Amino acid sequence: MIPSPRKPDVPPSPSDLTSDLTTDLTTDPFADDKLHEECGIFGIFGHPDGAAHTALGLHALQHRGQEAAGIVAFDGRHFNAHRALGQVGSAFSDPKVIEALAGEAAIGHVRYATTGETILRNVQPIFAELAFGGLAIAHNGNLTNARALKRELVHRGCIFQSTMDTEVIIHLIATSRFPNVVDRLIDALNQVEGAYSLVVLSEDRLIGVRDPYGVRPLVLGSLKGVPILASETCALDIIGADFVRDIEPGEIVIIGKEGIVSRKPFPPARKRFCIFEYVYFSRPDSVVEGSSVYAARKRIGEELARESHVAADVVIPVPDSGVPGAIGYAAQSGIPFELGIIRNHYVGRTFIQPTDQIRHLGVKLKHNANRPLIAGKRVVLVDDSIVRGTTSVKIVEMMREAGAREVHMRIASPPTTHSCFYGVDTPERSKLLAARHDIEGMRRFIGVDSLAFVSMNGLYRAMGVPGRDAENPQFCDACFSGDYPIRLVDYDDGNNTGQLSLLAERA
Ligand code: AMP
Repeated sequence: MIPSPRKPDVPPSPSDLTSDLTTDLTTDPFADDKLHEECGIFGIFGHPDGAAHTALGLHALQHRGQEAAGIVAFDGRHFNAHRALGQVGSAFSDPKVIEALAGEAAIGHVRYATTGETILRNVQPIFAELAFGGLAIAHNGNLTNARALKRELVHRGCIFQSTMDTEVIIHLIATSRFPNVVDRLIDALNQVEGAYSLVVLSEDRLIGVRDPYGVRPLVLGSLKGVPILASETCALDIIGADFVRDIEPGEIVIIGKEGIVSRKPFPPARKRFCIFEYVYFSRPDSVVEGSSVYAARKRIGEELARESHVAADVVIPVPDSGVPGAIGYAAQSGIPFELGIIRNHYVGRTFIQPTDQIRHLGVKLKHNANRPLIAGKRVVLVDDSIVRGTTSVKIVEMMREAGAREVHMRIASPPTTHSCFYGVDTPERSKLLAARHDIEGMRRFIGVDSLAFVSMNGLYRAMGVPGRDAENPQFCDACFSGDYPIRLVDYDDGNNTGQLSLLAERA
């Protein structure tokens, strides 16, 4: 239990804010920190079973992060927290844990992070006692100037408890001169750069925010009038809540006893929602930014079939992420769709396993060929993306062993050539197969008879626009284009010079 006695709203003195920063800031005391993460968030305000509903919401968002889960609830006097490594089911299976999280307001977080950093002190929601009372924050995204801000804050005397970029926001709120929590939050967010969708819980407010580019999703729902915030609509469905609307880019939604207030305090930016949410990351039963993820994936598969048809006997998805794309491919090409690979659902996502060795093994643990469907056939394999190539190599080997006559690989996204710095955990650029090889090189590496990716314009057409607007792209597609819409201050000189990944590798 974290006691939260009410405190007078005393702002820190201005001298705290202008303390001498002439100290050498060139050394980075956190050089080993890795701040990337990939997450799902949930919040509820005014329900007697706040924590139980949050646990269910997080369960629906489990695909967004499997390494750790946490809930912070406010019972009217105290903030109570439970955070644990592992999945939601194990972290919150004990009814006593939920009972201890009493209160009508709660926020929660599921997380996965890069190797080495999933330690308990890095599990969100993050909580702090501030001048105005307790405050908990759960963050989906990645701040691109967190290191720079953190260095300054540390030199000002802030003591960090974790290596999470989110803690920077807490310190900026703590040291803000503004009198109330909302204005302090706005003040803090005016200083950060990067991608963030946040849910914030104070003693009398639940707040939801999306960064001005709206890179990560956040939706507002209603459970018989009880406001809910969640990364995706599938987290509303699980508790029987209705979808109300997407939180808009740059919008702050402030939920209190008196109702819901919306503010747009940031300089407007052109929306750049992450297109990879449609390609892979969001759950197919979610409706994200007005589009069904499942329908979008199917349309990408149709585009792929139009662009790179091949004579074959059977279309086989790499389950589960390749399934909607393969359905679209099969419908458009007229080639029968079959479940030629069966997935064992009792192992975690391949990619999420923290070491290369385990990840490699994970592919074998996870998939098995449905031999009778494959022997002697010309197979079109459809997957949503190739990152390192590990999955593809193993799956193709499996197809050959099962007697496939030809194996053609079709990928329902353009080649992943660049790392994401906005909250999707991708390896450093040197490990991306498409950054090291052209299509023919990749084809040979994977060992297929032919390999094709959907074109960038094909992907955009599937999203309902005529094509990619090169001047003002309608989405963030940096992982496919290297066009990063938000400055990457921590990763280069801040001018997007194109050397990002090299510098990021050192970061
Ligand atoms: P790889 O084996 O490294 O080529 O990874 C490709 C596989 O991982 C594909 O089957 C994708 O469905 C999946 N994948 C792609 N991006 C991610 C990500 N950021 N996190 C987890 N899995 C991913």
